[in-house]
Amino acid sequence: MQVKRFFTAMLSMVLLSCLTVGCRQNNESTADFYAMDTAMTLTVYGKNADRAVSETQAEVNRLEILLSRTREDSDISKLNCAGGKPVEVDDETAAILEAAQKYSQATEGAFDPTIAPIVSAWGFTTDHYQIPPQAELDQLLTHVGIDRIHLDTDSRITLDAETQIDLGGIAKGYASDQAALILSKSDLSSAMVSLGGNVYVKGSKPDGSPWRVAVQDPAKPSGFAGVLSLRDEFAVTSGGYQRYFEQDGKQYHHIIDPKTGYPAEGGLTSVTVVKSAESPDAGTMCDAFSTALYVMGEKEAVNFWRSGKFDFDLVLITNDSRILVTEGIADQFKQETSSEYVYETIGRTAS
Ligand code: AMP
Ligand code: MG
Repeated sequence: MQVKRFFTAMLSMVLLSCLTVGCRQNNESTADFYAMDTAMTLTVYGKNADRAVSETQAEVNRLEILLSRTREDSDISKLNCAGGKPVEVDDETAAILEAAQKYSQATEGAFDPTIAPIVSAWGFTTDHYQIPPQAELDQLLTHVGIDRIHLDTDSRITLDAETQIDLGGIAKGYASDQAALILSKSDLSSAMVSLGGNVYVKGSKPDGSPWRVAVQDPAKPSGFAGVLSLRDEFAVTSGGYQRYFEQDGKQYHHIIDPKTGYPAEGGLTSVTVVKSAESPDAGTMCDAFSTALYVMGEKEAVNFWRSGKFDFDLVLITNDSRILVTEGIADQFKQETSSEYVYETIGRTAS
């Protein structure tokens, strides 16, 4: 069995940006660290850059302790072990679960944190990968559903007896919102935060040009399909290539379709959600939607964007080698010249 894990969805471009402006210049502070099961990079420019970097890193570590599924003392572990009893959690945990519930309802269950036991059955929590028997999946699916989470009060939550939650599809997005909040309080004009596939850029690069964030080519681990030029925006990517194992020549990845209990097969290999950083929960929303739209597949994802219920843009890569970019960011996306994808712009109405 072969196992693949990519922690660095957009790292190459973060490094590229760093090279472009010249690292270690005055007032620059950087940190590379590992948290929430992924590689993270912070690059901050300004008078208080060192302090902002250490505060951001501490915040990510704090959130990991609160939200991890695998740490016994986390709020999430307490909920998952409660056997149907109410649990007092941090107000923040309750607020994140409320957001998860909202995005689960908005995506008609494509995003669903109660997918936890299925993610475990496939071995993605322990790295002991296996294809679970259909009977086991059928049984576990009876405990999946967002209405199995009960937000009793601002800090008391009850899960149905056999229900468990996994915030892996939204926690890094929430952490990037918190990073943006910390950076907004410091006197800084320019920063890039990359938490696995979750990127937030503050302002422009110090030379005034936009930050350049690569969208990885799902077919080439070290290559990219294109580059987004961003200012004060989030760009969050979900892709089956980021974590998967291979058995008998077939790949099984970590984004699960809650309707089937199997890795989603909607015809997409990568979904990047881009949103302006104006609203305080933009990173959380991008993270939930990148996972959900990957599950939905091309047609449903495009319809969801066209519905206009939420304000965001998309870069989608399909398994038949097309790259689809919604019109709001078409002028911010440049396809990599050597990439063989056929480019299409997606408009608000079907053409
Ligand atoms: P992301 O990289 O944000 O797409 O999140 C993927 C992670 O979210 C997986 O590793 C699981 O922990 C979890 N997950 C998998 N499928 C789903 C789903 N349909 N809804 C919510 N979370 C999911
Ligand atoms: Mg996500």
